[in-house]
Amino acid sequence: MPRPLRVAIVGAGPAGIYAADALLKSEAAADPGVSIDLFERMPAPFGLIRYGVAPDHPRIKGIITALHQVLDKPQIRLFGNVDYGTDIVLDDLRAFYDAVIFSTGATADRALDIPGIELDGSYGAADFVSWYDGHPDVPRTWPLEAEKVAVLGVGNVALDVARILAKTADELLPTEIPPNVYEGLKANKALEIHVFGRRGPAQAKFSPMELRELDHSPNIEVIVNPEDIDYDEGSIESRRSNKQVDMVAKTLENWAIRDVGNRPHKLFLHFFESPAEVVGEDGKVVGLRTERTELDGTGNVKGTGEFTTWDVQAVYRAVGYLSDELPKLPFDIGSGTVPDEGGRVIEGGEHMASTYVTGWIRRGPVGLIGHTKGDANETVANLLEDHREGRLLTPSAPEEAAVVAHLRDKGVEYTTWEGWYRLDAAERALGEAEGRERVKIVEREGMLRASAEPRG
Ligand SMILES: Cc1cc2nc3c(=O)[nH]c(=O)nc-3n(C[C@H](O)[C@H](O)[C@H](O)COP(=O)(O)OP(=O)(O)OC[C@H]3O[C@@H](n4cnc5c(N)ncnc54)[C@H](O)[C@@H]3O)c2cc1C
Repeated sequence: MPRPLRVAIVGAGPAGIYAADALLKSEAAADPGVSIDLFERMPAPFGLIRYGVAPDHPRIKGIITALHQVLDKPQIRLFGNVDYGTDIVLDDLRAFYDAVIFSTGATADRALDIPGIELDGSYGAADFVSWYDGHPDVPRTWPLEAEKVAVLGVGNVALDVARILAKTADELLPTEIPPNVYEGLKANKALEIHVFGRRGPAQAKFSPMELRELDHSPNIEVIVNPEDIDYDEGSIESRRSNKQVDMVAKTLENWAIRDVGNRPHKLFLHFFESPAEVVGEDGKVVGLRTERTELDGTGNVKGTGEFTTWDVQAVYRAVGYLSDELPKLPFDIGSGTVPDEGGRVIEGGEHMASTYVTGWIRRGPVGLIGHTKGDANETVANLLEDHREGRLLTPSAPEEAAVVAHLRDKGVEYTTWEGWYRLDAAERALGEAEGRERVKIVEREGMLRASAEPRG
């Protein structure tokens, strides 16, 4: 008897969920259909929407509601709290599924190779983001004693980090931040936040809306030095050809020419300052040394040999995320991605049969949630072509019960989609008690307890 196409998706962030959606909207979803199992390391799905997007971006966090419609479909099962590599390995997936899509995203900070980066008080943005977004696997406290802080990088993650450091704890209280984060932020001593970019306003990677949002807080005075507004031929061309670049540059220009107001927390956006060294004393950060740069005509910069030491006691590097290598899969260390062609995993120049990638593990850690959708569509189209052409491997145990038995045999305490509804309700109830929409449960144990089926 014909059976449904069995697909495993590893990683239930937006890319994995969009891939499931694309599969269910495809022709293959018609009789005998597609049956999809999503494996997720965290007890809850949604990846960086839950553990990356800043808590004061409720509209973006709201994408979760739209993704519910996908995960509500009966052809999809969620197995949360299941780690690929330990709880389930490639050979297991080969036994249970016709095809596997990896959408494991990116979790760690890219390194920045400058002296002093290892000092106490020098942090990766991803770690700080995980802390304020209530990730279960990071410490519950965060040191926020520095009055002056440097943030390295001019992308949206740098803006998130700078904004969270500059807002007051009470400004963030209406969001879903958990109690330990509120308490931590209440003790935050930061009065000055300095964001540094190596290049100029036309090379910043900010989204125009995220940039303008900095100015909406009654506690944040955004300051741009008029001397940092500079363009060369390359920059002018970028502004001409890209509306977003032009909007960012215009916002920065407006801020550079206005009078500085008296909101209590100063947030400086510096350009043409290349981080050269994190300066330390007794193992602790006491400054940041930067080299002034100038445009070279093409939009790139060169050093001028003029150095400045900034008085800061903490440095956050927001220079990009990095994906983890996945057991039994090829990995390109340079780009931090799994090599692919159209989403088909490539090893030794050949397509690794029945194996696909999508999202940040495929394209690298750039782009917004929406971008992962097009990515997933392409990967799924190629998977389905391989299915039609008879190129997929044949699993030995494709029945839906086989993987459940495997996880039970291994003693894996997996969560389910129904479990997410229970966790969601528990977090909303915690919020309601305080007049807030939601309060996140942080501990893994607590998440598992809230997700568990009530004992009858
Ligand atoms: C700090 C930050 C803020 C952002 N803010 C915004 C924003 O405001 N708006 C916007 O549009 N985009 C934002 N983005 C970008 C957005 O988060 C990404 O585009 C998107 O999440 C990438 O989707 P993904 O599914 O590829 O990866 P992820 O979202 O990282 O999902 C991957 C999933 O795979 C799981 N996983 C990893 N390894 C394993 C394993 N071994 N076994 C099982 N599961 C595993 C992870 O737990 C995770 O749930 C932000 C990104 C960051 C880092």
